[in-house]
Amino acid sequence: MGLTGIQIFKLLPKTNCKECGVPTCLAFAMNLAAGKAELSSCPYVSEEAKALLSEASAPPIRPLAIGSGENVVKIGGETVLFRHEKTFVNKPGFAVLISDALPGAEVDARLKRFKELKYERVGLTLRPEMIAVKNESGDLGKFEALVKKVKAETDAALILMSDKMEALTAGVKACADRVPLIYAASDGNSDALANLAKENKCPLAVKADKMETLSQLSDKLMAAGLKDLVLDSGSRTVRAAFEDQVFIRRAALIQKNRSLGFPTITFPCEMTKDPMKETLIAATFVAKYAGIVVLSDFQGEGLFPLLVERLNIYTDPQRPMMMQQGIYPLGNPNETSPVLITTNFSLTYFIVSGEIEASRVPSWLLVMDTEGLSVLTAWAAGKFVGDAIGGFVKKSGITEKVKHRRVVIPGAAAAVSGDLEEELGKDWEVKIGPREAAHISAFLKTGS
Ligand code: SF4
Repeated sequence: MGLTGIQIFKLLPKTNCKECGVPTCLAFAMNLAAGKAELSSCPYVSEEAKALLSEASAPPIRPLAIGSGENVVKIGGETVLFRHEKTFVNKPGFAVLISDALPGAEVDARLKRFKELKYERVGLTLRPEMIAVKNESGDLGKFEALVKKVKAETDAALILMSDKMEALTAGVKACADRVPLIYAASDGNSDALANLAKENKCPLAVKADKMETLSQLSDKLMAAGLKDLVLDSGSRTVRAAFEDQVFIRRAALIQKNRSLGFPTITFPCEMTKDPMKETLIAATFVAKYAGIVVLSDFQGEGLFPLLVERLNIYTDPQRPMMMQQGIYPLGNPNETSPVLITTNFSLTYFIVSGEIEASRVPSWLLVMDTEGLSVLTAWAAGKFVGDAIGGFVKKSGITEKVKHRRVVIPGAAAAVSGDLEEELGKDWEVKIGPREAAHISAFLKTGS
């Protein structure tokens, strides 16, 4: 069990210096006990106290990583039940199941889709990250060869699935440097798999059909020195699996149950044969509360909505989504192309850039950092005002890309035009664009 706020308070410096962002050490201690603060926020905690507080300050759901290189999938680390309380931390990994009993052509097709299904949205690349390689053939050599093939052809974070110790040992040997998740320790094989996971420093999935057994297994593996566990409650109906997800999350967060304080893995692929239903089931587990979602296949029409859902749910609700400040060329513009300016609120950027692309008029879009505020909000907050815009335009480097000195600002921010003209000087012409971003396309085509 974690320490109470008062117990934590006794170990803090009690200077109330406020450097941790709250007015008193007591308030910080209470936040720490509730999992709402990080111990590292207080620079004055003694090493001795740090050691004592580490358990209390550790996230109630252990964070862990699967994979290596740029495509490391971090899961767990969650501290809240609902995203409006704070934010969800590590988005669940999407895995496609590839069995060694599949025909070679189907394996190739799934690998191809894994590599190709990537989407650009709000300046981010949305993609799946994981492949679950399953030993269904019973043939050790086939499984090992498939693991090697998947490793060689993709950057996927791997899940190795088998009920045979020899197959898992061979699979781990083939890709230990990729830090795969070994699936899964159960009543009969937990000692052997614990050794395999420890020797290779890999995370280990734990599977049991009852919550009590799952909890006991997890305790046993922790006692054996394993720290990175992933829980599979064994349920394969939507209702039971959903209830398990909620139970595990609540047990870890509210009851501070360390045995269940690990991320989970779910298998929508084993709950239906209908791809559309599978997507809906996966969507449920993205919201509550899977660490990994294993799908039978990746098809764009199912994967894309899941990626967008995941993005929305795992975006910090207290921070607007932002684009990088800079110059965005749209449609291969040249030195005579129009220059437009907007704010760095992602939604604004996507509406404006979409309209520019729809107009087919190659343009330069200047995106100004307004801390993620939309045009009118930024204007009202004094961040998207004439002199600030003028300063940004001059420093942006756009004058090296165009011969003319004409900039279009949204009609909604027309009030800034006087100050903007003054800031830019007489060489520049400030043109007022349409009030609604949705009219930019027509504006660019007609020039008014
Ligand atoms: Fe107390 Fe540390 Fe916060 Fe200062 S930074 S108020 S010493 S908890």
